[in-house]
Amino acid sequence: MIMNSVSIETVKSAIRNVPDFPLPGIQFKDITTALKQPELFKYVVDYFADLLKNEGITKVVSIESRGFILGGALAYHLGAGFVPVRKSGKLPADTYRKEYQLEYGTDCLEIHTDALQEHDIVLIHDDLLATGGTAIATHDLISNFHVKKIIFCFFCDLSFLSGRARLNKIAPVYSMINF
Ligand code: AMP
Repeated sequence: MIMNSVSIETVKSAIRNVPDFPLPGIQFKDITTALKQPELFKYVVDYFADLLKNEGITKVVSIESRGFILGGALAYHLGAGFVPVRKSGKLPADTYRKEYQLEYGTDCLEIHTDALQEHDIVLIHDDLLATGGTAIATHDLISNFHVKKIIFCFFCDLSFLSGRARLNKIAPVYSMINF
């Protein structure tokens, strides 16, 4: 498809809504339909790279697994290092662990204990912000390192769930697509 002018609206309308996935009642935002289009992938990466270029970010901390898609490209464009936050048992060396509450049950995230240093300025990136629980758990993990500054950045924000209001209390929040 030839596209002359990409906009935030073009990107938004390319995200597929999948009702009742993975559970009844959830409107799943499938970003693969947007990011498979070269012009849109480039637009999204360039948008965040430009937005964040003066923040002095030294590490992009991305959350498994959809956070990795844009996280690596962003780290490259910002001249930063890439750090994965992964589900329990996936990282091979010593880790900090954080259990956090899901709607039903709990989940656990980990980061390597040597992933960050005190002088780091950290961008926490995930594909989507819903209630904010995952992002806050990641922020808690990073607080082990006493880094200089933390900034949140999400491709999509489900504004009606008020995750952003929770996160705003602890660090600046950037997002591109609001539902
Ligand atoms: P939360 O912790 O509630 O902010 O949920 C955010 C995490 O769950 C992110 O890693 C998202 O990838 C995923 N997620 C939550 N809700 C959705 C949704 N409606 N569509 C796609 N991903 C979602």
